[in-house]
Amino acid sequence: MAVKRRFQSVKGMRDLVDEAPAFAEVEETARRVFSLYGYHEVRTPVVEDTELFVRGVGEASEIVGKQMYSFDDKKGRSLSLRPEGTAPVARAYLEHDMASWPQPVKVFYMGPYFRYERPQAGRYRQFNQIGAELIGDPGPYSDVELLVMLLRFLEEVGFQDLEVGLNSVGDPECRRRYSRRLREYLEPHRDDLGADSLRRLETNPLRILDTKAPKERELLEGAPRLREVLGSAAQSHFEVVCEQLARFDVDFEIDNRLVRGLDYYTRTVFEITSVSLGAQDAILGGGRYDGLIADLGGPSVPGIGFAIGEDRLVSLFRHLYPGRRVSGASPQEPVCVVPVGASYRRHGLELSQALRAAGITAICEFDALRPLKVGLKQANRRGCRWVVLIGEDEVAAGTVVLRDFENGTQETIQRDEFVDVVATRISA
Ligand code: AMP
Repeated sequence: MAVKRRFQSVKGMRDLVDEAPAFAEVEETARRVFSLYGYHEVRTPVVEDTELFVRGVGEASEIVGKQMYSFDDKKGRSLSLRPEGTAPVARAYLEHDMASWPQPVKVFYMGPYFRYERPQAGRYRQFNQIGAELIGDPGPYSDVELLVMLLRFLEEVGFQDLEVGLNSVGDPECRRRYSRRLREYLEPHRDDLGADSLRRLETNPLRILDTKAPKERELLEGAPRLREVLGSAAQSHFEVVCEQLARFDVDFEIDNRLVRGLDYYTRTVFEITSVSLGAQDAILGGGRYDGLIADLGGPSVPGIGFAIGEDRLVSLFRHLYPGRRVSGASPQEPVCVVPVGASYRRHGLELSQALRAAGITAICEFDALRPLKVGLKQANRRGCRWVVLIGEDEVAAGTVVLRDFENGTQETIQRDEFVDVVATRISA
């Protein structure tokens, strides 16, 4: 007989099984903190017009050049699974005429994103991001407020001592100037550059700055610095950002090599990395994108935002604080109701419903074909400390038995009082 094929998740995409509760807690924390700063949640589609990313993220970027899941629909339109969240939000800003709303518009979002990258630890083809965008204010105080909010979120998740890497990539004019200077500096050293950097030397020299190759990094030590060629407006913007962040006790370090992988950034860029994550060390990144909305055919409206890699955030949290729950959450452990014998299932269901109605998490073991011993073992394996037993004697007497696994004791209580008693015991 033919053996039926079993399926596995697609390469680079994974089930969140153990991690799902932590994801939910991180997301709840994001909703709470971001709302405090006047942000509201938006949800954009997973699929967009391919052209949106080509124009928004940039043709020369790795994401658009190599990593998009693009396909033609039945009418031959080229669509792509979203590889990032800012271009879709910018599209939505224009589509919903958010320019007519009170400015700046502050939104956040969370969900799955897709990039066809080589999978490795911390790098998936479907991953989750939590992002926020502040659109409509060019000033440095918005940069500061956004970063302060981000750090408050990380603190409330439970992180301590994360340091922000900060830089300015200037305005497009500064970047063009700098690209020329960097190219001039690197040209005589072509032999020391790998294939990727040689390609970037033609298409996007700035990206060479974040190379991981030791030889290239050494070479870049002597390269001109981006901040040396910033125009005066970009320079003073950056100064205010640094000054104000220091005033709010934000731990940051100016990182001259920080340029970020997406083409739309202008002026302020930032990233948080952790050596504990290994090669894929960035947990989040962001920056200002003052030209993006105009590139997408809209008016000239500035913006700034960030995207947190939720998968990496959760894995870093678990690594740094083993056994600790995100945001100090303490979920209620369930009370287990065990009907002793098949004919008491109805009572089991009634008792569990009464507990749930009072806000107490309850699980009922309906499989009464098993002996009581097995039912109790099962409750124990589920991690239930409290078990409510109901069988022939209890139904006749109008009682239930409440067993405490931790102390190995049990007591008989009146059925009409049992919810109150359980509530008192579990909160003691
Ligand atoms: P980016 O949109 O490239 O600025 O990325 C923002 C954050 O998303 C990064 O700092 C990572 O934490 C996360 N991220 C990006 N690509 C992936 C991926 N393929 N797998 C997991 N996380 C990712």
